[in-house]
Amino acid sequence: MSRPLQLDPQGRLRHLLSMDELPRDLIVSILDRAAEFSEAVSGPDKKLPNLRGRTIVNLFFEPSTRTRSTFEVAAKRLSADVINLQVSASSTTKGETLLDTLKTMEAMQADMFVIRHDASGAAHFFAEHAAPGVAILNAGDGRHAHPTQALLDLYTIRARKGDPAGLRVAIVGDVLHSRVARSDIHGLRILGCKDIRVVAPPTLVPAGIEHMGVRVFHSLDAGLDGVDVVMLLRLQKERMLGAFLPSAAEFHRDFGLTRERFARLKPDAVVMHPGPINRGVEISGDLAYSERSLILDQVANGILVRMAVMDMILESRESGIGNRESKGGGGGF
Ligand code: ASP
Repeated sequence: MSRPLQLDPQGRLRHLLSMDELPRDLIVSILDRAAEFSEAVSGPDKKLPNLRGRTIVNLFFEPSTRTRSTFEVAAKRLSADVINLQVSASSTTKGETLLDTLKTMEAMQADMFVIRHDASGAAHFFAEHAAPGVAILNAGDGRHAHPTQALLDLYTIRARKGDPAGLRVAIVGDVLHSRVARSDIHGLRILGCKDIRVVAPPTLVPAGIEHMGVRVFHSLDAGLDGVDVVMLLRLQKERMLGAFLPSAAEFHRDFGLTRERFARLKPDAVVMHPGPINRGVEISGDLAYSERSLILDQVANGILVRMAVMDMILESRESGIGNRESKGGGGGF
């Protein structure tokens, strides 16, 4: 389980591996800190001294646009040094290769690794083997978890719609292959959201998902009825080994957010998508950046939430062994 790895004995964040088992207060304090960063970087000078002298390694074994670049921007806004490694993963050489990569980068005195890998559990593996002073952030492992995506989604919902506890949220599409869906469900549940719906064709719903406290719908119109937030998911063709669907066009017809369906939503309902979008599949292209689409807010908020997580983890490591003023930065924000 993640908890003993993720939290130190004082309950502070050590590594971020998954949303399940994160205490509610900790999630709220991450969101609050992200909000403070939003204020702090709103002027022309977006650089804060918090992580000066720290080295953060982005280790991406799978492609990424938003997550990798927003982690990099976040680290740089906090004045850390950033190394980006795009590693092509061979699933046959996993175990030892991962460990060797970790140890090699640790030898360069990295303080934190941001890891994306196609194997569920890869981030746990790193956290189990990391040296005591080294933190691991999961930037997506297989179908398992994508905790910073969930945190930025919660931040975005809270900023636009208020406390998620009182909202109706529909998660629509390829839930089966989606680490985002799993992490979002955990996060929403922990923040008290009582009406979470999963809307997908039967082939794209993981068995037993009801046990996560969600209701499953196989009709999009029924699933979207009265919702405040529609979270669309990408059809993950790269993770589909068999035929899960007749065609993308058919998926769009039955489960895509079309103009007609959008018009039937509550007038203040908002639309989200973690990206990348398959235009004309999950959502009709003209809706992607509409007034009620929060897709670009999600990208921008990803920077703030990732700043908050990196700052909180490295801050908790600093306590007792000096303080950030001694790095010449003049403190946080
Ligand atoms: N970018 C998200 C992820 O890495 C969602 C997706 O790829 O569909 O999981």
